[in-house]
Formats: sequence, C-alpha cells, structure tokens
Amino acid sequence: MGRIKVLPDSIANKIAAGEVVERPASVAKELIENSLDAGAQRLRIDVETGGKRLIRIADDGVGMGNDDALLAFERHATSKLRAVHDLQSISTLGFRGEALPSIASVSRLLLETRTEEEATGTRIEIAGGRMLSVTEEARPAGTTVAVRNLFYNVPARRKFLRTEKTELSHIASLVTHYSLAHIDKTILLTNENGELLNVTPVESQRERVYQVFGSSTLDQLVELSPVQRELQVQPQPAPRTQAVSRAKDGLDQPRLQVFRLSGFVSQPQIQKLNRNSIYVFVNRRLIRDRLVLRAISSAFHNVIPSGAFPFALLFLDLPFDEVDVNVHPSKTEVRFRHPSFVHDFVRDEIRACLVASKPISTFPVPPASQKEVRAQPAADIPFSEASLTLSRSDLPPFDESILKHEPPPTRALDFTAAPPIDMGMAVNEPVGPSADSVAASLDEVSTPGTVLQQKTHSRDPIVDLPADSMARLGQLRPLGQLHDSFIIASGRDGLWIIDQHVAHERILFEKVLRERTRGDTESQRLLVPAIITLRPDQEITLTRIDEEFRANGFEIEPFGHRTIAVKAAPAGLSPTQVEALLNEILDTPEKELRELSLDDLQSRVAATIACHAAIKVNMPLEPAKMQWLLDELARAECPMSCPHGRPIALQYGLRDILKAFHRL
Ligand code: ADP
Ligand code: MG
Repeated sequence: MGRIKVLPDSIANKIAAGEVVERPASVAKELIENSLDAGAQRLRIDVETGGKRLIRIADDGVGMGNDDALLAFERHATSKLRAVHDLQSISTLGFRGEALPSIASVSRLLLETRTEEEATGTRIEIAGGRMLSVTEEARPAGTTVAVRNLFYNVPARRKFLRTEKTELSHIASLVTHYSLAHIDKTILLTNENGELLNVTPVESQRERVYQVFGSSTLDQLVELSPVQRELQVQPQPAPRTQAVSRAKDGLDQPRLQVFRLSGFVSQPQIQKLNRNSIYVFVNRRLIRDRLVLRAISSAFHNVIPSGAFPFALLFLDLPFDEVDVNVHPSKTEVRFRHPSFVHDFVRDEIRACLVASKPISTFPVPPASQKEVRAQPAADIPFSEASLTLSRSDLPPFDESILKHEPPPTRALDFTAAPPIDMGMAVNEPVGPSADSVAASLDEVSTPGTVLQQKTHSRDPIVDLPADSMARLGQLRPLGQLHDSFIIASGRDGLWIIDQHVAHERILFEKVLRERTRGDTESQRLLVPAIITLRPDQEITLTRIDEEFRANGFEIEPFGHRTIAVKAAPAGLSPTQVEALLNEILDTPEKELRELSLDDLQSRVAATIACHAAIKVNMPLEPAKMQWLLDELARAECPMSCPHGRPIALQYGLRDILKAFHRL
C-alpha cells in the first residue's frame, strides 16, 4: 500500500484553521469581513469571556439561500472569486473561501441566515467541523454567525489563548479599526458588561474619530486632507500570443494610476513607545506594512525623537492591481507594485501636512509621564501600552530653586485654579474690548474645541489655517519673560508661552542642517584652540565621524598622544561649549553609532550643535531679541517641536481665557 494519503477534509480544515484562526479576534475579523462583503449596513458583535465562550456577529447583509449556506462550509467555497484572473484585482475583503470551514472545524458554530427573496431562513449547526443539524427558521434577512467555545476540540491551541482581558482588547482594537474604516455603518460591540463601542453612520472621517476616540484625542491630531498623486504606468511586456487580446483590453496602453491618501496624524508632543497606535488601511483593509510604517517614521524624522512613534490613522486608496493582498493568510501584509512610489507619497504628504499646519500645544499640556493619546473606554484597551517619558538629560537645567516659593510656571497659568499670577511684567493696558466683541472677532477664526464644526471663511487668509497653528507665530508681540526662561507673547488668538531655549534650538538646528546640505557651514576660528584629551573609545568614535564634524565647520587636528586641537568650530560656540559638545557626541555608544544612518548622524550632530549654541534658560533677553526669536521661529519649517520632540510653544486660547473669566 502506498504511503501517501490525501488528508480528509476535517483534518485539512483544522490545518487551515491554524493559519486563519489564531485567536478570538481572528474569528471576529473573518466574520466582520464577511458581513461587510455581504453589504451589511448594521453589524452587531457580542462577545463573552473575551470571545473564548462566544463571538456572535449579526448583520443585515444580503444573507444566503439554503444551498449557499450549506456550500459556505465547503473548503474553497467562495462567492467572491470566479477565476484566477480575479486574484489580481481583489476588491472584497475575503476571497479564500477558507474562513467559515476553518472556524467551524475548531468551534461550535451556529449559522442563521435568510435572503430577501426567500420566505424562510436556514439554520445550520456545526461542531468541530461536523454538521449537526440543518433546519428552516423564520428570521429577518441577513446573517447571524455565533461561534462558541473556540478551540474546544484543540486543547493545545486553547492553552495558548491569553487572558480574557487580552483577548477582549484584541477584539476591541479590531472592531475599532473597522469602525474607523467604515464610517457609513452602524457598529455595536458588547460584552457581558454592556456596550464597548457604539457608532452610527456619519458623514466625515473626523466625526468618526470623534465618536471613537473622543474630543480630547481629536484635539491632538492633525487632519491630512485627502490628497492624490498620479503614477504613469507603462504596460508590462506580454507574450506575443496575448498581444491581440491585450490590445483589445487596452492593457498595452500606458495608464495613469491614481493613489489617494487621507487621515490623521498626531501632533509632535504625542509620542508612543511602539507602533500600536498606527492604523493603516489600504483600500479600507487594515494592514501592517513595514514600508508604510517606515514612511510614517521618516515623515516624523526630527519632529519627534527617533525611537518614539506617532499616532497615525491613514487611508491609502489605490487601484486594486497596484497591491497584492494575497501575501499573508490573515491578509494583514500586502505587497505594493510600486513600493518606493507609495513610500515617498506617504512620507511627503504627512510631512507636508505637519509643516503646513504647524500644530501647537495648548493648555493643559499632558504631563511628561502621560504623553499618550488618551482614548475613551472602548478604545482605551488597545492603547494601554506604557507611556513614554522623555529623557531630560539634554535639557539645560532650569533653576528650580525659584519653584520653592512660587507655583511652577505652568501651574501659574492654570487659569481654572485661579492662583495669583505674577508674570513679572506690567500689564497696564485698560481692560480691552468687551467680551462680546472679542468673542465676535473670535468667531472669524475657526473655533478650537468645537471639533465637529466646519472651518468658517472670512476675508482674512489666516482663517484657513487650523485653529491652533504655529503659523500664527509671525504675528506675535513679546510682552516679557517668565523667570528669564519663557517668552510671554500676545497674539490675536490668545496668550503664548515660548520656551526660549528649545525655540532657538529648533531655529539653529534647521539652519545647521540647511547649511550642511548646501555645503556652506558658518565656521569660526577659535582664538585659542581647544585642547581635548580623548579616551580610547572616543578616539575610535572620532575617526568614524571625523568627516561629519568637518562638514559642520569643525577643524580638528591631532595634538600628541590621544589629544586633539580644535581650531575652528561652528559659529556661536564658546571653547567650553565646543568641548562639551564634542564630548557629548563622542560619547555616543559605538553600537548606537553603527546603527545610525548617515541622515540620522547628520541630524544627531546638528541637534547637538544647536543645543549647545542655543540661548539658555535663566537668561534675560532684550525685547528686540525676543522679537527676533519669534520671527525666526515663524520661519522655521517645524516650529512645533525641538528635534527631540519637546513642544516649543504653548498657547492659551482667547476663548479659553474668556471662559475662565466667565465672560463667555
Ligand atoms: P470567503 O469570505 O473567503 O469567500 P468564507 O469562508 O469566509 O470565504 O465564506 C464563504 C462564503 O459564504 C462567502 O463567499 C459568502 O458567499 C458566504 N458568506 C459568509 N458570510 C456571509 C454573510 N455574513 N452574509 C452573506 N454571505 C456570507
Ligand atoms: Mg470570508
């Protein structure tokens, strides 16, 4: 007897289940996609014990006739794919015809369904892949699939399920994703304790983000208004035999492929420890793709620190033949036909959006230990990773002794607590215009806080900017300094506080990088060369980055045993600063240095130069100097954060001030 046997379907299904069904959330994913493919407008998802005991999805889609309902449990039975040719341009979410039989083979499954045309519905009960009963039943059109006791017959898999809370968080995260991608649907998610997410159809993505994450998160995001980029695609050479039919189908003509992008990204002060808050949808399908992640990271390059991640919600829509979704069984990985085009498109558009909107931090700022985007309960679970605390080591010390007898500067501006405010400056202007006229002038600018409101138009071009934008910096008038460290400025739209050190740091950083690229760095001879003795490891590091130092205007020569003489340095640095700066860069661990790209190294050096050369805190500034700083900052490409991601300016909006004084 031969040794090779064809596996019975029951075993083949279990094997396939290993690919498709990893955990309750993967069951939920398949079922939700089926409902969406069936044209459902309303989806109700009920789970018990994190989906281990029950996952039930009820939809109002087209339903299945009796025959189709039975067929649905055959392997590779699908209504969505007719020919191999279709594989190249898949528009529906499911297409393998594997999900239902796979899920049914590792659970107790109940399918109830009816089409509009049929008088009675069908009820099919399956356990461990065995059909237990098929009956007729009266029910509304649409489909309900209940999956109970997942992996009850595969103990090895059941053992690997995580805690109820973890499994539930995966499901909640998944349903959150689908509700973000399908704003025209009603989606309800419940568990034993009640509703976890409940969204109704809305007109705009913005409203959906509001429904899902709440207004405080929305306030921290910048909207990427829909943009598109076209790509001229040359026909691929075809075998001669197909030439005639290809010509007929127009396949041998160059075509214009249109790529579209929209969504939201976080402001620079929002920083995440990992990529969990990056949601990317390709043709409304949730994907995890390295290429897109890399594009997002490079858009945020020098805006947030390397190693930190933004919140991003991106929708990339492209012709179906530009993307292969068939790479991974659970379909979360994709292959782009023109990867570098997609990469550059995503990177450039996010960057442009950040640069154009120049988002600004407003009060109250999240404390350093809570830099996470906070979400509402339903969405809370997926975002519960530990928060990021920025290292403060590169911040020049703030003279904290002054805090002992006065409230800290930000608390002093917590108007809701109404502490005595002494900003160290005379405010001798009379109480200005009446609250009403101020409020009226405010209505001209778009309103912060009322998130669902459309931007209003007026003659003033400024109103087209987002409400809280650093682009308004150019109109600021410095009023004075707070503790010789923060510039207090008044603008049309409120009170601004600018950290003089990080502001100058950003200005210098961009200048150094710009000049570095053009090759005309401003170098300055030191009157007396700085003589620096190096440790052996620093000496090795120096040989690695010697060239980068030179390119930035340093002139370094050997000066005896393990000693160097610095004869010239970037302008604006004192010999002590030169020494501190060199030591700081040369102390970069060897391993870290090796992993830095040239680009990263350049910004690392530029950031260090900028940090050392920048105006310090605890330094009195002349009004003219303050104005200069504000004007220069207004010209910066990214005035919203220093290269390490710290905010540069805070704004207390006029509307909030009026509210705090009960004038609104
Ligand atoms: P696929 O989705 O890859 O086609 P599935 O095993 O998930 O494979 O589903 C098999 C078929 O069952 C689908 O092609 C579809 O015709 C039908 N089906 C599954 N779920 C539903 C549903 N909720 N409403 C209507 N038809 C469904
Ligand atoms: Mg499917």
